[in-house]
Amino acid sequence: MADQAPYTDGTTVGHFLDGAVVPGTSGRTQPVYNPSAGTAARQVALGSAAEVAAAVAAAKAAFPGWSDTPPLRRARIMAAFLELLNRHRNELASMITAEHGKVFSDAQGEVTRGIEIVEFACGIPQLLKGQFTDQVSTGIDNWTLRQPLGVVAGITPFNFPVMVPMWMFPVAIACGNTFVLKPSERDPSPSLRLAQLLTEAGLPKGVFNVVQGDKVAVDALLEHPDVRALSFVGSTPIAQYLFETGARHGKRVQALGGAKNHLVVMPDADLDQAVDGLIGAAYGSAGERCMAISVAVLVGDVADAIVPRLAERARALVIRDGMDPAAEMGPIVTRQALERIEGYIGLGVTEGATLVVDGRGYRPPGKDQGFFLGGTLFDHVTPAMRIYREEIFGPVLCCVRVPDAAAAIDLINRHEYGNGVACYTRDGNAAREFARRVEIGMVGINVPIPVPMAWHGFGGWKRSLFGDMHAYGEEGVRFYTRQKSIMQRWPERIARGAEFVMPTSK
Ligand code: NAD
Repeated sequence: MADQAPYTDGTTVGHFLDGAVVPGTSGRTQPVYNPSAGTAARQVALGSAAEVAAAVAAAKAAFPGWSDTPPLRRARIMAAFLELLNRHRNELASMITAEHGKVFSDAQGEVTRGIEIVEFACGIPQLLKGQFTDQVSTGIDNWTLRQPLGVVAGITPFNFPVMVPMWMFPVAIACGNTFVLKPSERDPSPSLRLAQLLTEAGLPKGVFNVVQGDKVAVDALLEHPDVRALSFVGSTPIAQYLFETGARHGKRVQALGGAKNHLVVMPDADLDQAVDGLIGAAYGSAGERCMAISVAVLVGDVADAIVPRLAERARALVIRDGMDPAAEMGPIVTRQALERIEGYIGLGVTEGATLVVDGRGYRPPGKDQGFFLGGTLFDHVTPAMRIYREEIFGPVLCCVRVPDAAAAIDLINRHEYGNGVACYTRDGNAAREFARRVEIGMVGINVPIPVPMAWHGFGGWKRSLFGDMHAYGEEGVRFYTRQKSIMQRWPERIARGAEFVMPTSK
């Protein structure tokens, strides 16, 4: 099914400009891999400043008509898109698995979480309702409304090639903006399929555009004077670069960065649930999730009970091609990423952590060239080690032992990242204290991956998010609109004459 993707010449993933899939013109391309086979499956065109300019021009031309379209009619196009997404859910999921490597059922879950944002965006008439005050002064009413910004852009990471773009464009477009997406160059195909489905749903041409590419395209978007706002999701150094450069160019920016998510196991926790939570959240999607759990914080005497059980489960993981129905974990996205993760495992050994399960060198039968890695488990990791401080973004779980809940919270609050966290306990008051005191944007109590629902909004704290607004939810609506206040008086029959003092309520 993945090979039905709309490649411009059968092998190269092109752009989507002004309503049509078009080949790249920059002459630059990059291989897109089948990570399970370890071979290049196709190429992706890498966009130039000229292609970004064409996308922004198409979006700018579409903006007056689209922003004037009543929100209810925009919502109806979102509803038609929603129906198409439900119909093409498995096709999109198989495209994800083909280029990312994650297992098919997980890819289906990714598409579903994206679909939920479209369901939210279908409610845009209600979300855009303003506020009205009657009679702020005699004969004067004041109201506020929110208007779209213009051309906005999204720059997205490889690990959710459908869901993360859908954190952005359904809300932006429903608000009346026009959009340019720059997807990850590592798994670019689903972006074009989404563009085609939007067109099929009735979206006018130019409202949604895709420019494939790398830093060249990103920099062109950052510098383009007609791009009003940028949403970014990716690693922290690039998020910070986007935030600072975008701000210098006068743009509104929300830039979501990397993570190091902790799961605390309290001595009173249900250990079966905690082990299940840790295994799924550490090794699901090969740890290539911004909400993956990469640190187990083991409180009191929990460590001696839980580490052997984690080791047994990590060794037993079923790691295969993502389309194998038995697979629990697929390959790593690229050889470069695999080598980076293996480098961290070597570093952990050098730093003195105990390597309980070593996933290096694992290959499923018949997949000698695939980018595979087994589940890896470290114990006795300390906060000074780089494997604790830095984001590894792979199937590597680090166990840190602490004496009590206060030490667990202190450890987490001192980490530079603040994306997600979880606490497993049976004690309601301990859970409440944890949730209130922990300096992290998204908290799970006996829930390992607390990704907020579409109407709540997604965002970390500290160096996991640069900017003020979280993605999607009502914060997404605020990010993609600006408030206008209108104060109105209709002419009265009594002439008042000019007023030179500050207007106050009369
Ligand atoms: P990445 O930062 O390498 O790339 C993200 C995007 O930035 C891509 O579109 C890429 O083309 C572009 N880019 C890369 N280098 C650039 C540069 N020098 N200048 C300008 N643009 C550049 O991230 P990735 O490897 O694709 O994704 C994994 C990272 O994303 C992890 O750090 C993960 O934690 C993070 N992530 C965060 C969230 C979140 O919500 N906080 C969600 C998903 C992923």
